[in-house]
Amino acid sequence: MPIINLLDSSVYNRIAAGEVVQQPASVVKELLENSIDSGANNVTLEIKEGGIKEIRVTDNGCGIEKSDIKNAFLPHATSKVKTVDDLDSISTLGFRGEALSSIASVSIVEVSSKTAESDAGVNLSLRGGDYGVVEECSHPVGTTMCVQNIFFNTPARAKFLKKPYQEEAEVTNVIQKTIFANPEIAFTYVADGKLVYKSGGNGLLSAIQSVYGTAYAEKSLAVDYEKYDIRVKGYVCDPSLTKPNRNYQTIIINGRFIKDFGLSSVISNAFGDRLMKRSFPVFVLDIVIPFNDVDVNVHPAKTEVRFKKQSAVYGAVYNAVKDVLENHEKVNTLQKELTPITESQVKHDQQSFFNDIPEQQNFRQHQDTERTDRLIKELLNKPIFESHELRESSTSSLLQHLLDKSNKTDTEPTVVQNKITVQDTYQYDYLGQLFDCYILLQSGENFIIIDQHAAHERLLFDELMNQSNNKTIVSQPMLLPFTANYSPKDFARIMDVKESLQELGIDIEEFGTYTIKISALPLPLVGMNVEKFIDEFLKDFDNRTDFSYADLLKDKLASRACRSAIKAGDKLNKEQIDSIIKQILDSNMTLQCPHGRPVAIKYTKKDVEKLFKRIL
Ligand code: ADP
Ligand code: MG
Repeated sequence: MPIINLLDSSVYNRIAAGEVVQQPASVVKELLENSIDSGANNVTLEIKEGGIKEIRVTDNGCGIEKSDIKNAFLPHATSKVKTVDDLDSISTLGFRGEALSSIASVSIVEVSSKTAESDAGVNLSLRGGDYGVVEECSHPVGTTMCVQNIFFNTPARAKFLKKPYQEEAEVTNVIQKTIFANPEIAFTYVADGKLVYKSGGNGLLSAIQSVYGTAYAEKSLAVDYEKYDIRVKGYVCDPSLTKPNRNYQTIIINGRFIKDFGLSSVISNAFGDRLMKRSFPVFVLDIVIPFNDVDVNVHPAKTEVRFKKQSAVYGAVYNAVKDVLENHEKVNTLQKELTPITESQVKHDQQSFFNDIPEQQNFRQHQDTERTDRLIKELLNKPIFESHELRESSTSSLLQHLLDKSNKTDTEPTVVQNKITVQDTYQYDYLGQLFDCYILLQSGENFIIIDQHAAHERLLFDELMNQSNNKTIVSQPMLLPFTANYSPKDFARIMDVKESLQELGIDIEEFGTYTIKISALPLPLVGMNVEKFIDEFLKDFDNRTDFSYADLLKDKLASRACRSAIKAGDKLNKEQIDSIIKQILDSNMTLQCPHGRPVAIKYTKKDVEKLFKRIL
């Protein structure tokens, strides 16, 4: 049985100082580390309300003696370090001896524990760090730590707690990484009564499967590389499975998961041009180096490290990953050469090359695109803002009207009645279309060039924003709703913008564990690739620090609107052109597309005359 020592100041002054408890996830991390250090091979984590209400960690480790139970909660009380020298060769996860004392000082803690040597278990409760009585209790060998109401006695800090689902995302991230870093330990993770993860302690690949799912495990390539005294082990997913951000990356150094952007970039570099722009590989890599070649004491939560031989470590990781990818390719090409390629396979390959969404979804998208095209054409053909009668009704009923129409007829062209042509209201001469891309007009003494694509994009975007502002948005149910599973962090980010999305007519809801479901889209966005839209949103989220959600969404929607807009190169008929011009003139729109490119350019007669040096 380890005995808990009170560190003397010469030891703890060498230990980086800092807060251990910032949020539920940091408590979870400390408690899990203690359970791992106790030699447990079975650990259960249960949280309520993102851990704000309760965090309970149960293990079957060595337990704590009755005589030691109070000591565990004293500052600088640890069974893991005795002298300064020990600090250079620490193999246990905890060693600062201050986690339990600082957790206990800001919460209500109850510990029950039993060692193999003692006959009875022991129980102790603390409130804001004040001890209750030590009592005997029945408990199997091991420890249960229950932490409730974090920051109940420090309201100023409680204010900084995020919403439960956001805190839960952080906790989930910690347990994920802990499972990866300890693949021989069986973990169970339950959040608000729901089982989230259950790993069997049967090695890393099985841990990846328990956390990320079978699809990831199947794409995982084993890494096992050794050079001098650096060993790199683990898995990288083959380049066909990448993510829009770094959330699916785990780096473990000597059993401790850490953050290291440098290493993450090294791995991206090893992927080289196998990676699409702004996509990130998925991996769990475990780097084992001599304990005294790495300083884990640079950060109080021990999530950052300093390598003594950084370039050697980076080099080893680079080569480890590159070798595996190259081998994988060799094997793959060989297999391709050996198997005769069938026609359907070719088709399939092409499909996945152009679009990584499943075939069925592809079909839906295709159908939706057709539908959008049709709707847009109708939109362009219809005197939406032109008929007096229609102008008076609300936009939403107009769109509904449009929708009803389009539901009824598939091929029949819409008969436009009551159409007031543009010429009736505005004086201009239509000169023609240039390069199937620009509309040329003369209006009085002005020569106007309109970029048809930019203009339509702007119209769609403005329409969406207007409808959203006036709360008159009409959404169209999708034939097949879109569902997808995200990492806890991404999921929390998406949930953060849920309401904004709903305001824009995107019908989004939570649908099982870290899964979302989108079942309707606003009319101007019908047919957009939802998966890509969300991926782009998440990508930008990661790459920006000074954003507002609303701006980011706007930005993303702009580029989506862009894709459903008529394209440069589409031949337009006179009516469509009239409609665009009319809408532009009518809508007070900013003469820039949502991407900031100009929609229309005006030359005065003078400008043209200057071009020909008729005047100076
Ligand atoms: P540290 O982990 O840095 O030693 P902590 O404050 O986290 O400091 O824990 C103090 C001590 O309490 C540990 O050193 C250990 O002896 C004991 N302890 C805490 N949690 C457990 C557990 N789950 N099982 C056995 N012992 C534990
Ligand atoms: Mg500890």
